[in-house]
Amino acid sequence: MVANVRIILGVFGLVCALGAQTRYDLLLKGGHVIDPKNRIDRVMDVAVSNGKIARVAENIPASAAAKTIDVARLYVTPGLIDLHAHLLIRPHGPTEGVQPDAFSFRSGVTTMVDAGSTGWQEFPEFRDTVIKRAKTRVLALLNIAGAGMLTGKEDDPAELDAEAAARMAKANPDIIVGFKSAHYAGPAWESIDAAVTAGNLTGLPVMVDFGRINEKRNIRTLFLDKLRPGDIYTHCYSGRREELLPGGKLNPAMEAGRKRGIIFDIGHGAGSFYWYVAVPAYAEHFHPDSISTDLHINSMNAGMKDMIHVMSKLLNLGSPLADVIRMWIAAASGSSIPAARNTRAGA
Ligand SMILES: [Zn+2]
Repeated sequence: MVANVRIILGVFGLVCALGAQTRYDLLLKGGHVIDPKNRIDRVMDVAVSNGKIARVAENIPASAAAKTIDVARLYVTPGLIDLHAHLLIRPHGPTEGVQPDAFSFRSGVTTMVDAGSTGWQEFPEFRDTVIKRAKTRVLALLNIAGAGMLTGKEDDPAELDAEAAARMAKANPDIIVGFKSAHYAGPAWESIDAAVTAGNLTGLPVMVDFGRINEKRNIRTLFLDKLRPGDIYTHCYSGRREELLPGGKLNPAMEAGRKRGIIFDIGHGAGSFYWYVAVPAYAEHFHPDSISTDLHINSMNAGMKDMIHVMSKLLNLGSPLADVIRMWIAAASGSSIPAARNTRAGA
């Protein structure tokens, strides 16, 4: 578990006014910086000014900063990305979401990606009432079903308007980072095809919660014929879509998908991470590309508590801490989803 893994985070945007004689607002002194993007994995000092990283160096004197915090024996990382969360609260409709700021910073998360809670029809209200009010940076994968999640309409072909979804994404390029196909029972590929069409119209990736499979609707066809390199397969250790074959071997389609550039995401949720899938997958060296919670009101008090807790599971599976941090902050590297901020000066 991560009892000893204490991470000082969220500091990059939370600084005080610059003192008159000092060069930096804040100095984090003596922490173990893990920043895969800049290949840093050692004890370093981090100075912050005006909400930005001003300097990362082995010894920055405390006299150079208005405020110094001793973070020796603690880890310092860029703010983490939760690639799969649900942040829409419908006051008078079906709802599973949570308020982003209530769950983000306390777990080291500074960016949350809402994974398809709304489609194009409801997105403007979601943007104005939740996303723009949050201190957390909130991005969104737009549900390819216009009515969004929990409406009972994700299976309705009439809701799959790729052009309307693409138009909404183009109108909100600072927030919408891709499209989500979820909970589709088929029988065919309409939801996936529409999401990929919207992706092609905008140059954005698609995240898939693959819903129900059948003989033709399987992950091999999904990875090799339907999705594009950089598209994201969430719930990769759910075991619900034959990720593991009878007998306990990993489905070769998983490795084939990885070779093709599909991104494999945890998306823990209330029932989408199982040890009986994850342990054999690790035994075959099939590790996830990104870690996410699938945070919602039905997952957060069950087998998943928060990002730190999901991290502990990856540590227990055998991933080194630096790899786990990379899975968090690199989020969908290889995809076109914006990466985390990092500790380079100016970031
Ligand atoms: Zn979800």
